[in-house]
Amino acid sequence: MLTISIAMDEKKGIGYKGRLPWHLKEELQLFKSNTMGKNILMGQTTYDGLPRKLKGRHTIVCSIDPEYKVNDPDAEVTYDLKKFLDEHEFSDDEVIVCGGASIYRQAYPFCSKALISFVKGEYETDTRFDIFDLNDWNIDKEVEYEDFIYRELSRKRNDKAIFVTGCCGYIGSHTVVELLNDNYDVVGLDNFSNSKPEVLNKITELTGKKVKFYEGNMLDRELLEKIFDENNIGAVIDFAAYKAVGDSVKKPVEYYTNNVSSVLTLLAVMKEKNVKSIVFSSSATVYGSENPVPFKEDMPIGGTTNPYGTSKVFVEQILKDLCFADNTFNACVLRYFNPIGAHESGLIGENPNGVPANLLPFIDKVAMGKLEKLNIFGDDYPTPDGTGVRDYIHVVDLAKVHIKGLEKIAHKNGSYYVYNIGTGVGYSVLDIVKAYEKVNDIKIPYVIAPRRPGDIATCYADSSKANRELNWHTTKDLEDMCRDCYRFVVNCSKEQ
Ligand code: NAD
Ligand code: UDP
Repeated sequence: MLTISIAMDEKKGIGYKGRLPWHLKEELQLFKSNTMGKNILMGQTTYDGLPRKLKGRHTIVCSIDPEYKVNDPDAEVTYDLKKFLDEHEFSDDEVIVCGGASIYRQAYPFCSKALISFVKGEYETDTRFDIFDLNDWNIDKEVEYEDFIYRELSRKRNDKAIFVTGCCGYIGSHTVVELLNDNYDVVGLDNFSNSKPEVLNKITELTGKKVKFYEGNMLDRELLEKIFDENNIGAVIDFAAYKAVGDSVKKPVEYYTNNVSSVLTLLAVMKEKNVKSIVFSSSATVYGSENPVPFKEDMPIGGTTNPYGTSKVFVEQILKDLCFADNTFNACVLRYFNPIGAHESGLIGENPNGVPANLLPFIDKVAMGKLEKLNIFGDDYPTPDGTGVRDYIHVVDLAKVHIKGLEKIAHKNGSYYVYNIGTGVGYSVLDIVKAYEKVNDIKIPYVIAPRRPGDIATCYADSSKANRELNWHTTKDLEDMCRDCYRFVVNCSKEQ
């Protein structure tokens, strides 16, 4: 997203000749700082009219004249602004748009922040800027100067609710907490095939707020229609799916039905009800076993070895085709690496029934004395200690990125984004065991067992695209993850 910088006279608009926005005190400070406005976008007329070029700062000059050139090493020209903005992924504050009403008009849909200087008194203007509706913005800061009022604005979030499918599951519940804490209204759906209704009370305990909850199956089209009719939904986050890899090999039809058909039902209803934004839970498993680490979003996907992984590849393709075919549809696909940990309150987390298939839930059960020892699947992989390496990410860091994903597609038309969501650091199974033992002061007995079929040696993300474009960074380390896991299972055992 971009920041738009405008000096305007409330009566007449902007663009008064000879006076450019950045003569103003506050803006000058912002422009000088290193963090804001690495790039400045402006029209040809403004650029040509600049008495002094903005030395050392990258200037993007927009022109409709194909012959137009600039003779300045710090500047480049674009002849198609929309295409340029679509092709370049700028993070918040990286680009400041200024100078030229036609440039404002074109860049406006992409702008999330605004710096406005309302000039007091009347000035001669040569253009009007009528698309800037103050009602669309929150005032974050206002300073009054002698001849102008300076405001920093952020675009108002639309007040529509977010529909969260699978809202009671492990990642869904943590995301709902973050959404409610960030003042979103949440409408949730779950059929409790892999979760319990108590989660809803925990969410309320944590946030003091309630989810408007529907119990049912995402395959139930009538129910989905009812949910969309009864609520003012603006976007969807889709978590509802089966996720046990081994199980998926035994029950492919059930997996494809629950993980793919359900998404088709959801998308059909979204289309019918004109809700065109979706954030989708995908997985690192889509990279298959042939790509080199670290995995990057532009690597080929597929070559998955189980129906669970293949179901994620299918849904990604469906979303991509849909956004291409319908230029009002927007999708943000998040490829999670290995989510672990729990909310630091110890109230919500992951606590599967039976013998867990995943590493951390298994270690938790060993820690609680419910299982005797951990089986480490292979110590002869080409990794530093021979055990499998994965990119573990704290579930709360993961939950937060969904809000960034929603923001990314909020004002778009026909956009499709894919992001790796990991830390970019790989830890081995033995690293995890050691960290867990250390932070929780507990012994985890283990034996080395044969490799698990289908496992790859090493899997970690290049998450720089999400860091850059979503302005999202992980905040929790491996010790936090292991500590929070244990705290949660200890809490659960007290409740039983
Ligand atoms: P989870 O099983 O804890 O949560 C999924 C929730 O969806 C559960 O509460 C379940 O009851 C519900 N659900 C399943 N099918 C449904 C249906 N047809 N209708 C209504 N509700 C339904 O799983 P999670 O770990 O929270 O994963 C959430 C999403 O993230 C899934 O799509 C999963 O494939 C994906 N993902 C998870 C991981 C991981 O390691 N946990 C990694 C990568 C991707
Ligand atoms: N693993 C293990 N013992 C277990 C479960 C997992 O050694 O009981 C290893 C597994 O081989 C892999 C890592 O732990 O190297 C993470 O496995 P998990 O199933 O949690 O996630 P995956 O990355 O396979 O989806």
